[in-house]
Amino acid sequence: MVLRPWNGPTSGGIAVLGGGLSGLSLVAHLAAADARPGPIVLLDDGRNDIARAAWASWTRRPGLLDPAASESFARIRVRAGGRDRELSLDEYRYRVVHGAHLLAEVRRHTDPVADVGSVTGHVTEIVESGSGPCVLLGDGRELRPHWVFDARGPASSTAGADAALDFLGFRVRSRSPVFDPHVPVLFDFRTEQTAASFLYVLPTDAQHALVEHTCFTDATGPAIEFAAHRDAVCTYLTDVLGLDGGSVDAEPAEGGRLPLTTHPPDRVQGRVVRVGAAAGLLEASSGYAYERIQRDSEAIARSFALHGHPCDLPKRAARFTRYNRALLRVIVEHPNFLEEMFAKLFARDSAAPVLRFLDEDSSVRDEATLFASLPAGPLIRAMAHR
Ligand SMILES: Cc1cc2nc3c(=O)[nH]c(=O)nc-3n(C[C@H](O)[C@H](O)[C@H](O)COP(=O)(O)OP(=O)(O)OC[C@H]3O[C@@H](n4cnc5c(N)ncnc54)[C@H](O)[C@@H]3O)c2cc1C
Repeated sequence: MVLRPWNGPTSGGIAVLGGGLSGLSLVAHLAAADARPGPIVLLDDGRNDIARAAWASWTRRPGLLDPAASESFARIRVRAGGRDRELSLDEYRYRVVHGAHLLAEVRRHTDPVADVGSVTGHVTEIVESGSGPCVLLGDGRELRPHWVFDARGPASSTAGADAALDFLGFRVRSRSPVFDPHVPVLFDFRTEQTAASFLYVLPTDAQHALVEHTCFTDATGPAIEFAAHRDAVCTYLTDVLGLDGGSVDAEPAEGGRLPLTTHPPDRVQGRVVRVGAAAGLLEASSGYAYERIQRDSEAIARSFALHGHPCDLPKRAARFTRYNRALLRVIVEHPNFLEEMFAKLFARDSAAPVLRFLDEDSSVRDEATLFASLPAGPLIRAMAHR
């Protein structure tokens, strides 16, 4: 059970379907808001163990769930195009939130509120009737809330997506100090480029790190196999970092295939609102969603407080969809472009301009400066392609 068990009415108020990152973040923001829109029930079928999850992301603004972050970095490393650069994050921090800490922080906001609780159950369907949405559970139970938030996670298929992000991370323990505990490696391209691939190293200390092999792939093609990810991580540890196979342990920690899409489904249908990955909040050209989900939860709570409904949400500028679509197209068709692009984008002392762009906080002038350094031909062709 994610929150306190719900024994209240099954009609009215709000139902949040899915107690993962977005469902929990939304419940916390609604519970903490001055004007709460009625009872809040969180439904989850328990398929994901939130306590084992962790999310890394960059941020430059304070948020409600900040105390859940346990590690914070002011610099990152990028190895691309034969260059090794340690970059400042300026106003940003790269942070890690562990699922158990997130849950504890969410409960700190929900526990004092009487009419917030959770139900364990598998949601099979949301039926729209004349009187509003009806949520059907596998065991025959029904809920008739006033508003439904569908937070049931990323699509299980990549069909129709612009690209897919395939990744597998290993928890690595080395007997000798090999990782820089103060600087995560966001991109290290010293790996085979059959797909657009890089290694990601998130250190806990000098001997422990999450080492993840990540590939941008064609959404219509097969996923990268476990063995290919594993071999890439082993080669990286031995041939690139120079570790002797006998002095290092590695066990699989997390992995998946995320659909990267620039055309998410409509978020609001009647009184059913999609949130989280289901709403297209995975950043299409990076696969990160943590910070977007926080901002979205905050905007929904603000909209309820101001208008009594959740629909006054910031609009995204259409140009970012065009950029992401073009970038994904070029990366899938020309896998080597990713390394070339990152070598150019991260060729300065600060990573902040790139992060501002990924956050869609950049101005057109900032974007012109960033893109001016990139090889123009493939991007222009991809922008022109519909
Ligand atoms: C392995 C992995 C690592 C990731 N790492 C990062 C990262 O480091 N940084 C980052 O920014 N993003 C990361 N992401 C991307 C994104 O942030 C996560 O996918 C995030 O968890 C999305 O949140 P969500 O609430 O939409 O989905 P989820 O967190 O997946 O939550 C969905 C919830 O819905 C429940 N559920 C599903 N179907 C039903 C049903 N029918 N009935 C009842 N309950 C149901 C599940 O039990 C689950 O609790 C990662 C994704 C994956 C898969």
